[in-house]
Formats: sequence, structure tokens, C-alpha cells
Amino acid sequence: MAVVAAAADLSLLAYGDQVAGCTRCALAKTRTQVVFGAGSPTAELMFVGEAPGFHEDKNGIPFVGAAGKLLSKLLDGIGLSRDDVYICNTVKCRPPGNRNPLPEELEACETHLFRQIEIIQPRLVATLGNFATKLLSGKPAGITQVHGREQQVVLGGRPVTLYPIFHPAAALYTPRMLQVLEEDFRRIPELLGLGPAPVPAPLPNELAAPPAAPAEQPVQLGLF
Ligand code: URA
Repeated sequence: MAVVAAAADLSLLAYGDQVAGCTRCALAKTRTQVVFGAGSPTAELMFVGEAPGFHEDKNGIPFVGAAGKLLSKLLDGIGLSRDDVYICNTVKCRPPGNRNPLPEELEACETHLFRQIEIIQPRLVATLGNFATKLLSGKPAGITQVHGREQQVVLGGRPVTLYPIFHPAAALYTPRMLQVLEEDFRRIPELLGLGPAPVPAPLPNELAAPPAAPAEQPVQLGLF
């Protein structure tokens, strides 16, 4: 097993080095760096988000901003840490101004995501929001329709359970969405064959949604 883990680690590192110089789409001109992915190279559970934002572009690590902090808390709530899973995005470079990724950017970048899945060989892939869900399910159904419902797909040449859930950014300012996301999260241990999730601890106050949604918040479209 240690040999398999070491091989996956090396393959992922080598592939990450290769992708660091990617110029497949125009995002290469505006990014600070490629945000390849982070976590265990042999993770059974992989999260696929949308695209790096400002903080991710600066740090080179996915989900380190507000949505990432919520993701870490949700993981903690089901007894997992970021080191137990692998986290990446459909596109590896920040779209300017955090706009939605364009079809040509998604298409240019999907090879990288599929190669990551091939190397890591996760059993469960949780897609965060619309972009990852549509890309990996190969179907047009949006996240509002399909969240919390697992699907059997083949990814990287292997059978994988796809589990669409809302993007944590969508839950930051919408209490009802946070509730749904927590509920969907609580099924993850069962889907991994780990039994029921531990008793939920309430999320700390700073992650609870504020009473009113501030109108000027930069809302990413396409999250639902
Ligand atoms: N949103 C994403 O989809 N990905 C990140 O890495 C951060 C925020």
C-alpha cells in the first residue's frame, strides 16, 4: 500500500510540475500561478470546485478564502480534515475578477482534472456547485435539481460515485443553503462506507450567515 501511495504522490507531483507552466487558455496571461490541487494523493474522497479566487491565486492552494474556511469546518464536522481528502477545481487558474469560467477555459482545463482523477483514483467525487457537477456528470441538470443525490459514473477509467453538493460560497450568505449543505455533507461518511456521520457540532459564529445579504457582495454566478 505504501508503494501505491508513493507512486501516486510522485505521479501527482510530476503532473503538477507540468501543469504549472500550462498555457492552454488565456487565463495563463492573467493568473499569478496555477492552483493545481491539494491534499492526499490517494484520497478516497475528492472535492472539485469551480475556479481559484483571489486568495487561491495568491497562495497557490485551492479553497483558502472564506468558502475554503467553510469547507474545512464542514469536513471537520464529519470527522475529516483537508489532509484526508483531495481538493481541486474544474479550472486551475483564476478567471479575472472571479467571473465564471468560459466554455473554452473549461474545455482546455478538463484534461488536467481527468488526469488528477486517474492518478488519485477516488471512490467518491463531491462536485461543488454547477460547473463541476455539469462537467463531471456530463449532464445539463443544475445543482439545485441534483444536489445530495449520488450518481454512478466512470471517471479516469474507473467507476466512481459522483456526489453533487452546493458550492460553499453559495452558503456563506444564505442560511437555508448552509443548512442544506450541512445535511448533504452528513451523508458523505455513509457514501464512503464509514457509517453514520458523528453528531454535528454547531458551526462557529463567524461562519454563520449574516442576517441580511449585503447587496454589494461579489456573488459568483452559476453556483446554483
Ligand atoms: N471557489 C472555488 O470554486 N475554488 C476555490 O479554490 C476557491 C473558491
